[in-house]
Amino acid sequence: MTPAMRQYTAIKEKFPDCVLFFRMGDFYEMFFEDARTASRALNIALTSRSKDKNLPMCGIPYHALETYLARMVKGGHKVAICEQVEDPKTAKGVVKREVVRVVTPGTITEDFLLDEKSPNLLAAVFAGKAKGEDSIGLSTADLSTGRFTTREFGGERRFSSLIDELARLAPKEIVVPDNEPDNKANGLSPLLKNSDIVFEEIDEFAFDGEEARRRLTAHLGVTTLEGFGITDDGAVSASVSAAGAALYYIQRNSPKAAKSINTLRMIGAEGEMEIDSASLKNLEIVANLADGAREGSLLEILDRTKTAMGARLLRERIVRPLNNTEAIQKRQDAVTAFFNDSVAREKLRSVLGEVSDFERAAGRIAGGNFNPRDFSSLLNSLERLPDAHDAALAADSEPLNAILDLDRWDNVEELKNLLEKAVNRDHPATFKAIGFIREGYDAKLDEIRSLGSSSRETIKKMEKSERASMKIPTLKIGYNKIYGYYIEVTKKHAEKVPQNYIRKQSLVNCERFVSPELKEIEEKLATADEKARELEDSLIDELRQKVVDDINRVRAAAFAIAALDVASALAETAKLHDYCPPEIARGRELRLAESRHPVIERMMTEENFVPNDISIDEKSPHLLVVTGPNMAGKSTYLRQVALAVLMAQMGGYVAARSAVIGIADRIFTRVGAQDRLQKGLSTFMVEMVETANILNNATDRSVVILDEIGRGTSTFDGISIAWAVAEFLARKGARTIFATHYHELTDLAATEPHVANFNITAREYKDRLVFLRKIEPGPADKSYGIQVAKLAGLPDETLKRARQVLRKLEKMEFGADGKPRLKAEGAEDESQLSFFDVRGHPVFDALKNADPDEMKPIDAINFLQKLKEMLD
Ligand code: ADP
Ligand code: MG
Repeated sequence: MTPAMRQYTAIKEKFPDCVLFFRMGDFYEMFFEDARTASRALNIALTSRSKDKNLPMCGIPYHALETYLARMVKGGHKVAICEQVEDPKTAKGVVKREVVRVVTPGTITEDFLLDEKSPNLLAAVFAGKAKGEDSIGLSTADLSTGRFTTREFGGERRFSSLIDELARLAPKEIVVPDNEPDNKANGLSPLLKNSDIVFEEIDEFAFDGEEARRRLTAHLGVTTLEGFGITDDGAVSASVSAAGAALYYIQRNSPKAAKSINTLRMIGAEGEMEIDSASLKNLEIVANLADGAREGSLLEILDRTKTAMGARLLRERIVRPLNNTEAIQKRQDAVTAFFNDSVAREKLRSVLGEVSDFERAAGRIAGGNFNPRDFSSLLNSLERLPDAHDAALAADSEPLNAILDLDRWDNVEELKNLLEKAVNRDHPATFKAIGFIREGYDAKLDEIRSLGSSSRETIKKMEKSERASMKIPTLKIGYNKIYGYYIEVTKKHAEKVPQNYIRKQSLVNCERFVSPELKEIEEKLATADEKARELEDSLIDELRQKVVDDINRVRAAAFAIAALDVASALAETAKLHDYCPPEIARGRELRLAESRHPVIERMMTEENFVPNDISIDEKSPHLLVVTGPNMAGKSTYLRQVALAVLMAQMGGYVAARSAVIGIADRIFTRVGAQDRLQKGLSTFMVEMVETANILNNATDRSVVILDEIGRGTSTFDGISIAWAVAEFLARKGARTIFATHYHELTDLAATEPHVANFNITAREYKDRLVFLRKIEPGPADKSYGIQVAKLAGLPDETLKRARQVLRKLEKMEFGADGKPRLKAEGAEDESQLSFFDVRGHPVFDALKNADPDEMKPIDAINFLQKLKEMLD
């Protein structure tokens, strides 16, 4: 083995699970298995070493790292980047090399690898203790913005809370301790399956409580974590372990980027409405059900933000609505401020349109992995801050003050002024070329640069003088990377060149020379450039330090921009789509007039969306059974009500003419499970797991929507379960809408006082089925299935037979007492027996058909006897 290969092997051993990009001169080389992986992932040729034919290798040019890295990361590979960490010219023996960074999905910061509209989170999860109780810690870090948080889940439901939270956050990578073999079995796996989240097991030592606390305090430069809202009472909690492990992972993989993390936030769940992961998915809040993309989601419809910071904040709000009236009202008032004042809104939005993602740019600068563009976009954005402030003041600033404190608005002026002086706005795209620092910022740099440009000037003049003195009008002075500056003459003039000029290169038609004079100037130029480079580098580092010093102010400004952006964007959407501000109530009312489904109404092209109402209040029934044929619009209705509650509680407007919404503590949904089979759970099992969650956790403050539950099993099972579930929820008091194709469930209303029937029907018109889309009181017409079959062209005979069978089946729904069989046992009460109830009974028919006038006394006695027998 060559010394370089020995070095390679030693380094590779430390990063067995990564593809090692090994820097050799102008290339990153991959060897062995890594070479095979990379050649496949990057679609580049696999070769072998000239010395060793059995050693597979491939390589990429160093300057193309970004492009290739993006492909590796998208392909789900971890990449360890190994650089030469000393100057090859001065190195003795093999150049020293080190892995400077491991690129993992959760630790990337480069904008070309990130989605600007969502955070890029690394999560660490630890099951441990807090105050002596079992608890789960979850910490997340976003290296692109420096946001670092931790939180804790306790109690019986801690695991499902964790899953729900992970579904909301959608981290790119989750770190767990490697000592727990059942980590995956624990239930994280269904979440991870079919998602592109990378699961990373690391040394459990990283989670050790004391070690974690020490690491956090050392990194954050504090002596106690109490300032971050973490009680430091000696017992280290699971949330500290998780945060410590996240930091450990970042420090190990991306030591430079770890610098962007300078604070930790302890998150409590108070004040937030809970949406479980199933609802998040079913209601298509941030992603559609079909392919998981953003298209067709509520977020896509609502998102009219102008900045990346605003887009990310909106996403956060939509998955984390509030349940605190005051907080919701404050947000809503801010939207109203912009809703009512389109001039201020337009003004602000045009300012925001010029603000770039300076939160991430500043994060990259602080983290040390930045390019010139990050400085200029920070500068350009800081320059827009005063205008954004003015625009906010121009609107009704009272409500905006409640969310932002406009009086203490900070334009981060000093940093902006400094960058204005320092940054050349037409800077080169990379730091390789000089010219990032603006002229006039540093006298020394200007001097060195003018030396350089005067040398270039001299070379220009030399071209003229050489032409004249040699009498070669076509003589040129050119430059290339290998030979530097040269004098080029065509072959036929070559002998005119003075003897002391050195021939450098012969081409087909011309010869290239250097003169001693040219050589001298070139050297001057090279030293000037080198000096300029060095000086620029140190000036850039000074600037970087200034950004680090002001990073919290920059982040606060980024938040202010995001908050204004979200408020004005929601106002814009509300204006465009005709939404109304909901009245946030404290009771259990849920009243919507002319409500629409915000997503479906936007997708309709042919017909118009038909608005519908809902009216639930303290006294009226709060469980609505909605029946109607397939395609009538039941599912749509259910979802639009749930979405209205969510939109209201995130502090926005809702798609209705008017709305009164009593705060919900949680929204639960249980809807069709067609697409879950691939997860290995049967549809019915999934359905029951989700239903169990609802029954165990719904309160009288919850909003529940159940769409066709019980569909996954046999009819009788299904009806029974659906019946029992509905009855349970009706008694519990949760505001529930229950869509079902089991007509039997409409009987619930007969016995449960809190249940009401509604239907969405269709009408036959000539040979068409017309969907009216209007919800109305009462159960749907039973025979709609057969109606639909008729319209579909089933033969008359078949339809006739189907009606007969249906009638028979319908008879069986009633017991001997003539009451619906499904009615609750406990509700039996003689006094409630009405004439109507016994109509189906044979005694009734017998009596009806009997004619006492024709009976002899003995016949009458016999008849009475028969009736008695029939009853028994
Ligand atoms: P169901 O659950 O009753 O089978 P869906 O709610 O799935 O019906 O609705 C079927 C289709 O009908 C929807 O995709 C939509 O195109 C249309 N639709 C539903 N509700 C409405 C409405 N209120 N106005 C107009 N079209 C509607
Ligand atoms: Mg449906």
